[in-house]
Amino acid sequence: MTRTGILWLAATGCAVTLAAAVPQAGQRLAPTPAAKPAATPAPATKIDPRVAKLKDQVLADVSSPAMFDLGQVMTDQVFSYGELGFQEFETQKYLTGVLEDNGFAIETGVAGIPTAWVAKWGSGRPVIALGSDVDCIPQASQKPGVAFRDQIVEGAPGHGEGHNSGTPLNIVAALAVKRIMEREKLPGTIMIWPGVAEEQLGTKAYYVRSGMFKDVDLVMYNHVGSNLGTGWGDSGGNGLISLEYLFEGETAHSAGAPWRGRSALDAVELMNVGWNYRREHLRLQQRSHYVITNGGDQPNVVPRNAGVWYYLRETSYDGIKNLWDIADQVAQGATLMTNTSVTSRVLGSAWPSHMNRTMAETLHANITQVGLPQWSEADLALATATQKELKVPVVGLVKEIRDLRGAEQIPDDDKRGGGSDDIGDISWTVPTVSLSFPANFQAGPGHNWANAIPMATPIAHKGVNYGARAQAMTLLEFMLRPELVSQAKDYFVNVQTKNKKYTPLIRPGDQPAIHLNKGIMDRYRADMTKYYFDSTKYKTYLDQMKAQFGYSYPTVRPAATSQQH
Ligand SMILES: [Zn+2]
Repeated sequence: MTRTGILWLAATGCAVTLAAAVPQAGQRLAPTPAAKPAATPAPATKIDPRVAKLKDQVLADVSSPAMFDLGQVMTDQVFSYGELGFQEFETQKYLTGVLEDNGFAIETGVAGIPTAWVAKWGSGRPVIALGSDVDCIPQASQKPGVAFRDQIVEGAPGHGEGHNSGTPLNIVAALAVKRIMEREKLPGTIMIWPGVAEEQLGTKAYYVRSGMFKDVDLVMYNHVGSNLGTGWGDSGGNGLISLEYLFEGETAHSAGAPWRGRSALDAVELMNVGWNYRREHLRLQQRSHYVITNGGDQPNVVPRNAGVWYYLRETSYDGIKNLWDIADQVAQGATLMTNTSVTSRVLGSAWPSHMNRTMAETLHANITQVGLPQWSEADLALATATQKELKVPVVGLVKEIRDLRGAEQIPDDDKRGGGSDDIGDISWTVPTVSLSFPANFQAGPGHNWANAIPMATPIAHKGVNYGARAQAMTLLEFMLRPELVSQAKDYFVNVQTKNKKYTPLIRPGDQPAIHLNKGIMDRYRADMTKYYFDSTKYKTYLDQMKAQFGYSYPTVRPAATSQQH
């Protein structure tokens, strides 16, 4: 991944897993001379001809028009649902329906999370679990294929992170591998799971705690990006703790007897002021941000209750715990100043991720065989017009696969911080790899309507299909080559976790924050339903958009207009 690439991805808030290690100026990268034998495997060499033949067959299957269309329909369908974290009910019904129709056994409501699910097919080992996020972003409603701000439903959520594409990719790959396994009578189990509420960093630590990965040998994760690639080792990014501080005071008439009231809102404001002063004296790698979740009821009643929600990000478990302690102290300080009390609750958490070397090297070898999609003139026109609109470098669409990135360990002072993804918790529980695929391009700031522009267009459809090719080849390779599974486990045990063990940030009493986002979805869902993709009437969502709104792909500002923006 390029430096520009990582900046874009880090900005998306949950994409550090794509990056693996990012070489930085003056940074020494592993492998070190002391690297274990497991750290220098050559997975692509001396492949049994049967393995090579079956991989060619699975590649041909995923490349077929039928499989391209399957990925397209699913990507468009999930895009049209635009569901926020913990509210992915339509998405769950649709995706588990597709999997059930294809012979997978479905379990819903896993880990105490109503919209979570697990799909399983096959028997015996290895057990390989494919995962990707499914939730979207507030205020990111956007007509796909339109290179400027144009909402489908004003103010509604939308896929301004591209999480509509990853599970369709995994399903296409899994179905192609399943066909080969059935025909060849291969042992092995394919499991598929969704990253529910990834934007809240809300579920994966609970998945781990519930034992979802207890019998899993390997996890293959993916995340949308602007290139096809992977990496291994330390991400260099941040993990986080997500906390809501709930202050309590006493009501009073704000004009008649204000001296009898104790304002919880004052405490929230003082906590934020305190944190913002303290921020100057924190490490540069930290990122912290907050929103006020409750500011009281009405001005003439002194607010008895008020709340503020913080994301506290640092590069290590200890760093995150330290920020958490400081925030608790600042909250206590605010209560002393206001004669109020405070409690807090955990809404989410994420460990900084570390990806598996053997798995990344195996995946990368297949990525180089797959190559990049052919982009059309229309695809390029959309990308360049969006880049011009946002006044960012006009780089078009990706033309070259990035190199495999890797570093066993990045010295902590060399890490730069950035976004987080709770895949980190899984990556410290099971050998894990993350595939980045080019269903998007470099333009938007992340978590923004602009990042939704390509996500139901041929750019996303091609990115999903090419990602599925690499994912399918790699999944099949792990099924056929037990020595790779052993090597991956060896790296996990003897390199990655040798001196660092996973301790969850969530405490035993913490529970998934499944109440989040219900109010927003209740407000917008009825309007959004009118624009759910009807694949029985239209081949693509763009066809439906044309019928509903009368625009074509791509829609860009006339040249003269765009000059003025
Ligand atoms: Zn994401």
